[in-house]
Amino acid sequence: MFDFLVIGGGMAGISTAARLAPLGNTLVLEMESGLGYHASGRSAALYEAQYGEPSTVVMNLWGRRFFEENDLLSPRGFMVLAPKDDPDGFREAVNTFGGTELSFQEAQNVVPILNPDHLGFAALSNEAYDIDTDRMLQLFAKTLRSSGGEFRFNSKVNAITRTDSGWQISAGDQVFESKILINAAGAWVDQIAALAGQPPMGIIPKRRSMARIPPPGGHDVSSWPMLMDAREAWYAKPDAGKLIVSPADEDPQEPHDAWADDMVLAEGIARYQPFVTEEVTRVESSWAGLRSFAPDKNLVLGPSTTDPNFFWVAGQGGYGIQSAPGYSQYAADLIAGRSSELSEIEPSVTPARFGL
Ligand SMILES: Cc1cc2nc3c(=O)[nH]c(=O)nc-3n(C[C@H](O)[C@H](O)[C@H](O)COP(=O)(O)OP(=O)(O)OC[C@H]3O[C@@H](n4cnc5c(N)ncnc54)[C@H](O)[C@@H]3O)c2cc1C
Repeated sequence: MFDFLVIGGGMAGISTAARLAPLGNTLVLEMESGLGYHASGRSAALYEAQYGEPSTVVMNLWGRRFFEENDLLSPRGFMVLAPKDDPDGFREAVNTFGGTELSFQEAQNVVPILNPDHLGFAALSNEAYDIDTDRMLQLFAKTLRSSGGEFRFNSKVNAITRTDSGWQISAGDQVFESKILINAAGAWVDQIAALAGQPPMGIIPKRRSMARIPPPGGHDVSSWPMLMDAREAWYAKPDAGKLIVSPADEDPQEPHDAWADDMVLAEGIARYQPFVTEEVTRVESSWAGLRSFAPDKNLVLGPSTTDPNFFWVAGQGGYGIQSAPGYSQYAADLIAGRSSELSEIEPSVTPARFGL
């Protein structure tokens, strides 16, 4: 009998399991052959604390110390761009993300390919960082193992039964017993709830795609900031000497192993193109992942309204890496029944807010 059985070996599952392992026997079940196969291995790996709903921002900020103590951040910077005819979009984005407004020349000194014919406004913030997500996953995995926790890969949960003392969980021909079940299955969380007879949270997985292109004009892009359209119609970010360009798509999808649609990529690149002088002639590779949102875009953290032994760690949307130190700590505090430094987020993230 385990104390805690976590379904999902992405950032949500592994970070929560790492926090729980010192409190009791912990097992993580993951249907794929390794950690971070789905959304957690496909992100833009950015830490920008102001990105997300207010409750998410609280978690992002709280987790900053964890990132710094473990040397997981490196400076990136964040430049908001808007065309000449969109001062309102620009102001709104600067109000959210901050940053110093730049003249065209100043912006071009940082990113030499910016197009003077199209670009009207630019602002630069230094408060954005690359996250070493692989090392972050490994760090949580190591913490889990060092407290006696375990993972099982290639273990797809396909049946869940309530018992007097907790849950019986079947994954293929393996059967496990646990007192508390933690649902951290990313895009699949509502399917896991259905298996356990719990009300769904209405989580909607939305596809987000990425195209990797050669460095524009052969420039050394390594010190460029992330570039984002003020209305998030596209963004671009240096990545291993290349540029990744995202159409910032948000198409609702059934949970699955997502891939990028060529037409969506082409439309996104067409939105990026007027902002820069270098034409995109080739996409070297592409991928997509699912960002899973609750209807109000806040995370879902807490016990099911119908069973205190079924616990949600869900709805991480587009910020589930940067908010992970925070939400995993909050989830563990709640499960341990101790007070949390993050208790102010409770009304926004509790499953009870949906009245189900
Ligand atoms: C393109 C893109 C860019 C992003 N950029 C950023 C960013 O810059 N910064 C940021 O903070 N966030 C970003 N995100 C969001 C972030 O990646 C997600 O919020 C986060 O990875 C969600 O983690 P998760 O563990 O909930 O989901 P996942 O990583 O998808 O993990 C869920 C796991 O559950 C497993 N599972 C599902 N069903 C079962 C079952 N029945 N049995 C066993 N296992 C099961 C799956 O195999 C999966 O591995 C981005 C996402 C995408 C797609």
